[in-house]
Amino acid sequence: MDKVKRFIDCTYTATKCNLRCQYCYITQENKWNEELPKLKYSPEIIGEVLSQERLGGVCHINICGLGETLIPAEMVDIIYNILKQGHYVMIITNGTITKRFEAIAKFPKEYLERLSFKFSFHYEELLRLNMMDKFFANIKRMYDAGASFSLEITPHDGLIDKIDEIKQVCLDNVGAVCHVTVARDASKTAIPILTDLSKEEYIKTWGSFDSDMFRFKMSTFGVKRKEFCYAGDWTGYLNLVTGILKPCYYTYGGQNIFEYINKPIKFEAMGYCHLSHCYNSHAFLTMGAIPELDSPVYLKMRDRVVVKDGKESHWVQPKMRKFLSTKLVESNKEYTKGRKRFLKVKNFVKNFPVKVYLKITKN
Ligand code: SF4
Repeated sequence: MDKVKRFIDCTYTATKCNLRCQYCYITQENKWNEELPKLKYSPEIIGEVLSQERLGGVCHINICGLGETLIPAEMVDIIYNILKQGHYVMIITNGTITKRFEAIAKFPKEYLERLSFKFSFHYEELLRLNMMDKFFANIKRMYDAGASFSLEITPHDGLIDKIDEIKQVCLDNVGAVCHVTVARDASKTAIPILTDLSKEEYIKTWGSFDSDMFRFKMSTFGVKRKEFCYAGDWTGYLNLVTGILKPCYYTYGGQNIFEYINKPIKFEAMGYCHLSHCYNSHAFLTMGAIPELDSPVYLKMRDRVVVKDGKESHWVQPKMRKFLSTKLVESNKEYTKGRKRFLKVKNFVKNFPVKVYLKITKN
């Protein structure tokens, strides 16, 4: 059985998007029509540099654009070439670019079993643009082809009146209600929840979806992590356009892992977390970047059980279910106490200027 060796969160720095969600910073900054950046490395090279040999084993690769991930045509080949290496891939998408799903559905079955989609449910935009049927048809297309999916909504205050109808649309189309994330205000250093509700009201309102993802995110949101974090070794943050791999978000330095294919990648844990909280804890912390932290498995953040005519099925399909139930500590060795202490101090000093920069540029 495949176990996760590393979790690599990849960003594709293109802000282009075909939707105009009110709560999205791309809309607020009018960036949805910006030119797509030119890829410095071909999809074939991207696949090769991310070989199992180089990454140390079978990895979980997450791909998310700054705008809609599947707008760049080359994304289909990038996904194909990463799957070719034997990794498991998760794509974050708004689910509306049908021609990309049609192309991906033609991948070999063995690839599709290791592929999953996180469909972001932009309810109001799908209604405004009359795209609801197309959205759910694309989910069905990928599931029938053998891939897994999860449906997730970004809570915002303007949607509260529509919660009942949103749940019904989910039940009618995918047999269970969507998962719920936590909207954050990234313009502030503390990265607070983006809402006018109190924390208690927010939990009461969006907790009605009974989403493990929402529960876990809320339990870690705003909690400064003081434990030793293996980001930088067991997890990483990769820019697919430039090839720069960093230990985590807003961290100092980075290494270009695309430039020299055979150069070994230096994996070293940060230990120290310089952010006010781990805002993507549903991925990093459930996979086990902080192994001493008791957390549910990542599968719980994505799956839903559907019962129809007495039969049970899951949004996440069997092979993916097993993989998403594994933790990073199962394939990696923990550091000695001395090494942990040394790295914590080293990275506290190294990332101090970044901390100051974030304090100055955000409010
Ligand atoms: S705890 Fe901090 S360093 Fe570790 S994964 Fe989360 S944000 Fe990154």
